[in-house]
Amino acid sequence: MSETFTALVIEDVDGKPKAVFKQQNLAELPDLDVLVEVAFSTLNYKDGLAVSGKQKIARKPPLTGGIDLAGTVVESRNPAWKKGDRVVVNGWGLSELHNGGYTRYQRVKAEWLVPLPEKLSFEQAMAIGTAGYTAALCVDALERWGAIQPGADEVLVTGAAGGVGSVAIALLSQAGYKVTASTGRPDTHDYLRDLGASAFIDRAELQQKGAPLQKERWAGAVDSVGSATLVNVLSQTVYGGAVAACGLAGGADLPGTVLPHILRSVALLGVDSVMAPAGKRQAAWARLARDLDLGKLDRMTRVEPMSRLPELAEEILAGRIRGRVVIDVT
Ligand code: NDP
Repeated sequence: MSETFTALVIEDVDGKPKAVFKQQNLAELPDLDVLVEVAFSTLNYKDGLAVSGKQKIARKPPLTGGIDLAGTVVESRNPAWKKGDRVVVNGWGLSELHNGGYTRYQRVKAEWLVPLPEKLSFEQAMAIGTAGYTAALCVDALERWGAIQPGADEVLVTGAAGGVGSVAIALLSQAGYKVTASTGRPDTHDYLRDLGASAFIDRAELQQKGAPLQKERWAGAVDSVGSATLVNVLSQTVYGGAVAACGLAGGADLPGTVLPHILRSVALLGVDSVMAPAGKRQAAWARLARDLDLGKLDRMTRVEPMSRLPELAEEILAGRIRGRVVIDVT
């Protein structure tokens, strides 16, 4: 084990969050049960907010950034885990209340860990990351609700070229759904078609104020945009359909009416990944291992060194990142 290693730490400087590269050693890690040697972390929208300092994500600074990590257990005081186990952590307050994955070593609670399915490498696990695992939670939620069944059902994915959107499209198309992608970047159409989208809607169309009840189109939808987009998607969802809402890339408001819900029994299914219970996590990871085409995952992913995180954070907030970015912490 290296004596010292580099971590990206979010500090409080004059009341504002600031990301700083620091040299750390094992003695500085929190006193938690499982020591993990981190292989890769990743970049999610929330990481962009934390690293850029645009939002106070780290509520108890200083905290190591990175809401995800994948790696190998080095030592464990909890019998549930042993040296050599391959594990992944998503959420649980990493980089918000606890130290996160932008580091070579991290100590975590035993109950935060999910065993990494054998089929997936550490790099693939972080290519999936919270964004991809949330996409799987959304698809699980729609199927569990009974809104969609593989076959002819038409499902809409908003924020399509982003991390959640890209993985949602790949999962849904693999499961046999007809997927329409809403994106603001026409230059990503070929990329999205390759992931499995068969039709496109310009995102501007979904941002305009529309009638509270519009032509019924979607059996289900995965929405990572929120605001007027989510309101229009609900208004276009078929009788008895459902929308899994997980994001706010377009805004946190919901300027709509109850009409789709009370006249068409449309369900709005909220999806949170941070505190999701172990059962839902394992089901999501099992779906990802089973359904996600690893060739497609490779094509939506690039690996970047930790040193580039400050620039990458700005890029993801500007909506310029396509697909997923894996962070090499070595
Ligand atoms: P990305 O930045 O990778 O993707 C977001 C996508 O949303 C962009 O690629 C873009 O898609 C679209 N978009 C960006 N800005 C706007 C805008 N102003 N109006 C409309 N569309 C916009 O982020 P992630 O995929 O990692 O995350 C997406 C959202 O989901 C975020 O809000 C994030 O916080 C949330 N999230 C929530 C989780 C939870 O637990 N509930 C977990 C993970 C993410 P395009 O270019 O195709 O138009």
